[in-house]
Amino acid sequence: MAKHLVLVGGGHAHLMTINQIPVFLDKGYRVTLVSPSPLHYYSGMGPGLLAGVYRPEQVRFPVRHMAESGGGVFVQDAVQGLDPKARTLRLASGATLEYDAVSFNTGSRVDVPGNGALAPDVFAVKPIENLVAARERVLERLARGPLSVAVVGGGPAALEMAGALWRLGRDARTNPLAVQVLAGRRFLSNLPAKAQRLARRSLNARGVEVLEEGYAANVTTGEVLLETGQVRTADLVILATGIAPSVPLGACGLPTAPGGWLAVNKFLQSPAHPEVFGGGDCIHFQDRSLDKVGVYAVRQNPVLRDNLLGYLDGRPLRPFHPGPPTYLLIFNLGDGTAIYWKGGMIYQGRTAWLLKDYIDRKFMRKFQP
Ligand SMILES: Cc1cc2nc3c(=O)[nH]c(=O)nc-3n(C[C@H](O)[C@H](O)[C@H](O)COP(=O)(O)OP(=O)(O)OC[C@H]3O[C@@H](n4cnc5c(N)ncnc54)[C@H](O)[C@@H]3O)c2cc1C
Repeated sequence: MAKHLVLVGGGHAHLMTINQIPVFLDKGYRVTLVSPSPLHYYSGMGPGLLAGVYRPEQVRFPVRHMAESGGGVFVQDAVQGLDPKARTLRLASGATLEYDAVSFNTGSRVDVPGNGALAPDVFAVKPIENLVAARERVLERLARGPLSVAVVGGGPAALEMAGALWRLGRDARTNPLAVQVLAGRRFLSNLPAKAQRLARRSLNARGVEVLEEGYAANVTTGEVLLETGQVRTADLVILATGIAPSVPLGACGLPTAPGGWLAVNKFLQSPAHPEVFGGGDCIHFQDRSLDKVGVYAVRQNPVLRDNLLGYLDGRPLRPFHPGPPTYLLIFNLGDGTAIYWKGGMIYQGRTAWLLKDYIDRKFMRKFQP
């Protein structure tokens, strides 16, 4: 029986492997992609999707088509766990799937404050496709009257969501849209002071309120309860709070880091189970803790492809070199400008936005089938 490679999640780190499935088939291997959706949305363009700068079809990869056109099998399902000894995956549908090698690129989900469930009119920023529904709901409610939206979260995703909502309200030209950011205890605390200042100034100038009154303890329709006991109200809520692994791999007997992230060695391989690999947000790279940013997921593409093939072939694997700890981030402010940040270089302007748009569109083209 041909050896079976299962790719779990068609995320940013698996795109090259999915596109090169024919290479695996030529060597006599079978490849299956398991994903809850036939489409994978690119997070970097998520804020532009919410704002209406991009259409949904411009910001997503047709991962089902990519897998099937290369001769792979696509299973629309979500992996819930695995038995590393039996080498089987457990799927949400109740089915099981055997593997000889498996790679996880299941990303992260938003950690929903309170009981973990999303109430009506509360949208989590991930998966990014949620932003399609959020956009439709904002437009529908705005057409009926003034609307208030609270963005819960204090990181760059919350900044970009607030900017995108402002843009959406402006371009809708219907009723007033009030946007507030419930930023926890300190807005953008992980960014340098200059980036914080630029972001605040930009939001304040557009009437977006940034509140630093404490973390959200519970979120229900129309209400955000803060850890202090205060309640903030808003018609709609967008959650850009902290992230957690999408699949509880630690509970399945795989070594994980605090938080439940899949531990991998320099070959992006589980130290306890050499047939288990991973990339993107869902891993903890043991050699050096990496930020949960798409930059690393993208850089892992060629190493994952080579090492999955190398493992099946029984050849030596190559190490992943994450690169210098300073990498480029550009935050889309929604007003036609962006904040550029790389090392000590920080500025806001239209050129930063144009650069981000160029890089993102190029990335989308690179991995199209
Ligand atoms: C609004 C926003 C903007 C961002 N902008 C940037 C940016 O500009 N630059 C940057 O570097 N980073 C950015 N990030 C961070 C970036 O989103 C993540 O680091 C990146 O998405 C990680 O990629 P990934 O492929 O690991 O995970 P994901 O993008 O989360 O993809 C995971 C995939 O796994 C699938 N999946 C999930 N659960 C299962 C399951 N149980 N079984 C099977 N499949 C599953 C999902 O459907 C999805 O296709 C942004 C994040 C947000 C929220």
